[in-house]
Amino acid sequence: MKDPFGRRIDYLRISITDRCNLRCIYCMTPRGVKPFKHKETLSYEEIVRVAKIATSLGVKKIRITGGEPLARKNITHLISSLRAIEGVENLSLTTNGILLERFADELVKAGLDRVNVSLDSLRPDIYKEITRGGNIKNVLCGIEKADKAGLSPVKINMVVIRGFNDDEIGDFARITLKKPYQVRFIEFMPFGAREIWGPEKYIPLNEIKSIVEKIAPITPVKIRKLGPALKQILGSGPARYFRFDGAPGVIGFINPISHQFCNECNRLRLTSDGKLRPCLFSETEIDLKTPLRNETPDAEIERLIRLAIEIKPAGHNIVCESKLNYLRPMPKIGG
Ligand code: SAM
Ligand code: SF4
Repeated sequence: MKDPFGRRIDYLRISITDRCNLRCIYCMTPRGVKPFKHKETLSYEEIVRVAKIATSLGVKKIRITGGEPLARKNITHLISSLRAIEGVENLSLTTNGILLERFADELVKAGLDRVNVSLDSLRPDIYKEITRGGNIKNVLCGIEKADKAGLSPVKINMVVIRGFNDDEIGDFARITLKKPYQVRFIEFMPFGAREIWGPEKYIPLNEIKSIVEKIAPITPVKIRKLGPALKQILGSGPARYFRFDGAPGVIGFINPISHQFCNECNRLRLTSDGKLRPCLFSETEIDLKTPLRNETPDAEIERLIRLAIEIKPAGHNIVCESKLNYLRPMPKIGG
């Protein structure tokens, strides 16, 4: 499946809920987001049907996200159904890690390949403040358990926000000196709670990278020279990877604002209320829920998926001065 700009679309991110057990300050207000009613949320059967059709069109990689995906009941049932789809080569999940220790073994048994864990501070008090009440111990135990259970390499995603956690960039980078994790720094984007976002809180990649380089030199990971498994993990996303000499882990930089990677974007998003979204930053959506619930044949769902690919924009025009004017907050899209 190629879009009009020649990009091969083979990655589907599926949000399975807009509910969450945390209230991160950069993602939502203290009251959270008003959740979709249960009947507005796609059932697992509906999600699996879309995934099957998308896979028949060339999707190879599926990521489950939310809201907090581990907070939705019977998640392992969904994972095993997605794993059973022929053509799904890579099945992963993005989580805040709070419930990961409890679920890691079951997730592996169900067929999950890997997890991304969002962790924005290593200091218990700051973590609690950023997440509005989260206990970092749960996340750290979850990461260890995920690694031991085989959901590896574990990716740790840190959204860097000036004045909140930028003084911890070095501590996060040093994790890779001891552990085989992928620590990825993500630029803060103009989503989320209005009182938190502001251009002055945004830190561009170059600044993050130069802080890391003060610890020791880093060199780019040569994707071409990796084995097929690692090549698939490191080579198919927006992150650019580096490594300290001899370190077991790698450091990734994801910079949607300062260095657009739209020309390499290979993804579509399915929201938990059944909208197909060709671009994170564009409000254009195609409704799949209504046809899914109206006994619509697969051929029509397939046509709508193709349409989403045809209308995928060439790029976004978000800059750090952009105003927050999105209709959907991040948990309602699926980050
Ligand atoms: N609850 C899960 C989690 O936190 O990993 C999955 C959903 S969360 C919306 C997905 C990702 O979006 C997280 O890594 C989070 O840090 C990121 N995110 C949310 N708001 C963001 C923002 N304003 N800028 C950058 N990343 C953001
Ligand atoms: Fe929940 Fe993830 Fe948003 Fe934090 S970033 S509030 S964990 S959805």
